[in-house]
Amino acid sequence: MDDDNNIMNFINGEWRNSETLEYLNVVNPATQEILGKVPLSTINDIEAASQAAYKAYHEWRRIPPTERVQYLFKLKSLMEANFDNLARTITMECGKTFDEARGEIKRAIENIEVACGIPILLQGYFSEDIASGIDEFMIRQPVGVASVIAPFNFPGMIPFWFMPYALACGNTYIVKPSERVPLTMQKVFKLIEQVGFPEGVINLVNGAKVAVDAILDHPYIKAISMVGSTPIAKYIYSRAAANGKRAQCQGGAKNLSIVMPDADREMTTRVIADSAFGSAGQRCLATSLVLTVGEARDWFPDMICDNAAKRVVGYGLNPDVEMGPVITPQSKERIENIIEQGSKEGAKILVDGRGTVVEGYEQGNFIGPTLLGNVPTDGFVFKTEIFGPVLGMTHVIDIEEAISLINNHEYGNMACIFTSNGESARKFRYETEAGNIGVNIGVAAPMAFFPFSGWKESFFGVLHGQGRDAVEFFTQEKVVIERWPKEWTRKF
Ligand code: NAD
Repeated sequence: MDDDNNIMNFINGEWRNSETLEYLNVVNPATQEILGKVPLSTINDIEAASQAAYKAYHEWRRIPPTERVQYLFKLKSLMEANFDNLARTITMECGKTFDEARGEIKRAIENIEVACGIPILLQGYFSEDIASGIDEFMIRQPVGVASVIAPFNFPGMIPFWFMPYALACGNTYIVKPSERVPLTMQKVFKLIEQVGFPEGVINLVNGAKVAVDAILDHPYIKAISMVGSTPIAKYIYSRAAANGKRAQCQGGAKNLSIVMPDADREMTTRVIADSAFGSAGQRCLATSLVLTVGEARDWFPDMICDNAAKRVVGYGLNPDVEMGPVITPQSKERIENIIEQGSKEGAKILVDGRGTVVEGYEQGNFIGPTLLGNVPTDGFVFKTEIFGPVLGMTHVIDIEEAISLINNHEYGNMACIFTSNGESARKFRYETEAGNIGVNIGVAAPMAFFPFSGWKESFFGVLHGQGRDAVEFFTQEKVVIERWPKEWTRKF
């Protein structure tokens, strides 16, 4: 462990050790090397961060937005200068390939860029003469201290769906990364230290449940953003609400894609394979099930099996590798059990990634791309988020049946259609009950200037992360009605 990997909290503009005695190992999922020990911070650590953020808030909100964004411009430049260094850390602690990790940092930076437009995004509106001589206007003011509770699968990007907007709007902030991948935020906060935000404006506290519960209960923290699994998202949403906080909680997913008989075969296969197996399927926008309509059954399964079987699995820092490991040995075991269960409930294992061993990385949590055919629509595999490189396929008669299966699914994060027919595409876009829709797109990830949507069990809240939604989430509207009678005006 080198100095860089001594994991600390960043509170009130300085690096501090947690007061905890409890630590977890941070482990490289490809090599099993221990990269660091993460402190499971205590209620007192959260208390210190909340006090610092609260104290800083009153000055920070008074700094004009045009000046607040100068700090973000500086952070963007520093992240660009340290791009590959940050991406390498993501690959090492999270397992995805270096290219995927670079894509993640790019997305993080795009959110800083959008937040830099806050001087215009923050504007309110004004109506003159709502009654004779009376004007009314709405101004946006920050909510106070806000916090993000992040998942393991995008250690560099997900805090940026929220943090830059919160700061630009005049809030102060606390980041709580996933305890499984804390190193990327350590590096980001080294850059934040260089930016020189005023003390307490932006804080980092590592930890797990104790730290999260302390955030949820702290009276100074007014807004919670969370991304993670559905049961935890629901828990965080309800505890935050019970404590009078606003919350936006993005949950798990099971993304279905429809392949129509008229889809472009080569592109559809390539794009769906990248969606299902990219980041080893550990993406909330990974395609997890394909519904083949009509004659699509005659070509899609063969073509995707071919693609899956050729995918190079290994350590993500090696240049030829196309797919890395899953996050933990427990996760690998869970996914392998689901494959077995799928087989027991009648699915056919067409490509089996279990037992994949990578030379030189024999201890890694690797599972090769896996394809299951004839997945029954009432079974466990159809209903459950797998979060691994497993793609199921089910055949349906027509687009109506396909849309109805999607609409009856409990999750609603993403749904995609592959077709060359505009009418099918429009029907799908119009009728499908999911928040992020792809038409001939495999990973329908909204750009930073659009909300990262999600419906049903995939999202709890009203306003999403990114773009205008984030600006609304991190501000409260103040409506002012003013009357200035003429007779009060002194004549000079
Ligand atoms: P997770 O729910 O285990 O953890 C998420 C966060 O919650 C972590 O910071 C963790 O410390 C905290 N947490 C975990 N258990 C807790 C508890 N009992 N009490 C309080 N806090 C707790 O999720 P994960 O495994 O890190 O991430 C994977 C999940 O995230 C998948 O389900 C995936 O679909 C989802 N995800 C969703 C989106 C989206 O946009 N909807 C994006 C990325 C990931």
